[in-house]
Amino acid sequence: MAEQESLEFGKADFVLLDTVNMSEFMANLKLRFEKGKIYSYIGEVVVSVNPYRSLNIYGKDTIEQYKGRELYERPPHLFAIADATYKAMKRRSKDTCIVISGESGAGKTEASKYIMQFIAGITNPSQRQEVERVKNMLLKSNCVLEAFGNAKTKRNDNSSRFGKYMDINFDFKGDPIGGHINNYLLEKSRVIVQQQGERNFHSFHQLLFGAPEKLLRTLHIQKDPAAYNFIKVGGVVKSAINDAAEFKAVADAMKVIGFTAEEIQTVYKILATILHLGNLKFAMDGDSVLIENSKLVSVIAELLSTKSDIVEKALLYRTVATGRDVIDKQHTDQEASYGRDAFAKAIYDRLFCWIVNRINDIIEVKNYDAKIHGKNTVIGVLDIYGFEIFDNNSLEQFCINYCNEKLQQLFIQLVLKQEQEEYQREGIPWRHIDYFNNQIIVDLVEQQHKGIISILDDACVNVGKVTDKMFLDALNTKLQKHAHYSSRKLCATDKTMDFDRDFRIKHYAGHVVYSVIAFIDKNKDTLFQDFKRLMYNSSNPVLKNMWPEGKLSITEVTKRPLTAATLFKFSMIALVENLASKEPYYVRCIKPNEQKSPLLFDDQRCQHQVEYLGLMENVRVRRAGFAYRQYYDRFLQRYKMISEFTWPNHDMRSDQEAVKKLVECCGFQHDVAYGKTKLFIRTPRTLFNLEDRRTQM
Ligand code: ATP
Ligand code: MG
Repeated sequence: MAEQESLEFGKADFVLLDTVNMSEFMANLKLRFEKGKIYSYIGEVVVSVNPYRSLNIYGKDTIEQYKGRELYERPPHLFAIADATYKAMKRRSKDTCIVISGESGAGKTEASKYIMQFIAGITNPSQRQEVERVKNMLLKSNCVLEAFGNAKTKRNDNSSRFGKYMDINFDFKGDPIGGHINNYLLEKSRVIVQQQGERNFHSFHQLLFGAPEKLLRTLHIQKDPAAYNFIKVGGVVKSAINDAAEFKAVADAMKVIGFTAEEIQTVYKILATILHLGNLKFAMDGDSVLIENSKLVSVIAELLSTKSDIVEKALLYRTVATGRDVIDKQHTDQEASYGRDAFAKAIYDRLFCWIVNRINDIIEVKNYDAKIHGKNTVIGVLDIYGFEIFDNNSLEQFCINYCNEKLQQLFIQLVLKQEQEEYQREGIPWRHIDYFNNQIIVDLVEQQHKGIISILDDACVNVGKVTDKMFLDALNTKLQKHAHYSSRKLCATDKTMDFDRDFRIKHYAGHVVYSVIAFIDKNKDTLFQDFKRLMYNSSNPVLKNMWPEGKLSITEVTKRPLTAATLFKFSMIALVENLASKEPYYVRCIKPNEQKSPLLFDDQRCQHQVEYLGLMENVRVRRAGFAYRQYYDRFLQRYKMISEFTWPNHDMRSDQEAVKKLVECCGFQHDVAYGKTKLFIRTPRTLFNLEDRRTQM
């Protein structure tokens, strides 16, 4: 239990720190990391520090140790929270969710996999075949999603470039019978460009290094990464990951999940198409644009099961409706390059969403299943990008940080709400707790008409040429008085800002300077209609199905599509609503250093994360109420030896009365409250004192 560990390993629960301040918090976190204790608690929140080495703490035996236990009975572990989640779901028929957050490389995805492993390990004792099938699918789906959605970045060799929320459905027996995945904002710009030292999505490298010669030949792909512009931009091709082996694993996983041979072939064709697109070169010949290496056009046409002239036309022209007329307008070479890149990004993004949908088709609980299994309950697992501050922050970081504001808002509401509800349930008066409410920042971003996303959308619907700078001016005018928005006036001393390009938001996690360059383009996310029609008219039915909107002719396309930021906003609002309807559990992941070293605890970097994950606030909220609570019978089990009235057994009418007697014997009656089923202790010191007395007995 927590206190036992305190001398050698620090406090297992930060709520039990003698004094709550940053230096105590950090000292405890560091001590635990150095002792190999990567997990700690803040109440029921798990704090996890990436060990950057394999620890022997995830095996079957450990799963057994945590199965069916109360949180405090074993040292902190992800499995304990997974078990608590599972128990709440099973015993109380509650939908629950686990929200995993932290920055890139902090260990979110690994945590989500261990959680799933634990759930797989404790369910289906009777080995029902159907349940085993579902478990296998859920585990296999990770491998496919990581191949297409993860990439090597400077911060993480296996960085998830999308947000993921997965529901696991359970039947009345508590066995998994299906699931559903929601994906959020894939970083599709990576398809065409990567920073130095980074790679494109794993899928491309797996194809190049793992596909059999015959397949590569049919795709017209050579095994040379340097031959492809979209691959070589980042300069690295190798990673710790074995691409060839992964290619096979992913192909097998797709087969097991139920992708048809035709579907898998189409997936490879799309990857190859993108690689070829990246090598297309445009040039101006007088007034007209042409493709320098037009041989590639026929290769692309072959891969997309369409005709070369259709591909060429989609690359060089766009169809526009002017009044009643429909004309073909020729691109400039720049426009053609823009169109090509947008096309490459769009087909990859669409491929990814399609993969997620296919997995969902197969794992989703069918109606007839639900009937057989009766009411089913859900555990959701959210593995989503943490707060990001880069040297250069663009619309992607803006969206990601907005997402974190939303989750923080939910966290505040729910942690407080949970505390409040527990006090109500237990009949204990509620005391108001002061905390920073970041709703004001959420509003700054998402409010209708007044928020940054609305102002950005206004700039995007304008038919005339609105520049990024004009958008910035609009922000500066409309938001100048906002306490969390800073423009020239407020940041005059900030030398890092260029006032013709940047704005700054004071996020709950810190200040972030955003550069507006390309905000408008990225938000409009224009893909010329011609490409959609090209895909829809493919004779490959898999491709055709991926692009249903290509059915519309130019005159039928009237509605302006929603912008990228607005779509993201809607998806976040839906996500938060979904999470709020469940009982939440939290895992807060911390990355100990930038070097991926198992030995180094970088104080400054860690402190920064502790700050922006709001962990201190979390401890304070937890302590402002009652630091510790325990069921009466369990409390007695642990401390009954302290008092003659309770040792070895008590003869009072109830455990509650016995606990009362014990507490009074020690003189702690002013520091506790008696709930209906639990004893609440306000200050950790009382608990330490009890522990001391216990060990002195
Ligand atoms: P991103 O936001 O970039 O997706 P992430 O938070 O999902 O990052 P992970 O991919 O889970 O980070 O972890 C990064 C790496 O750290 C892993 O590939 C693994 O090498 C190591 N790691 C993380 N958690 C653990 C763990 N519990 N035990 C051992 N190694 C770990
Ligand atoms: Mg990840």
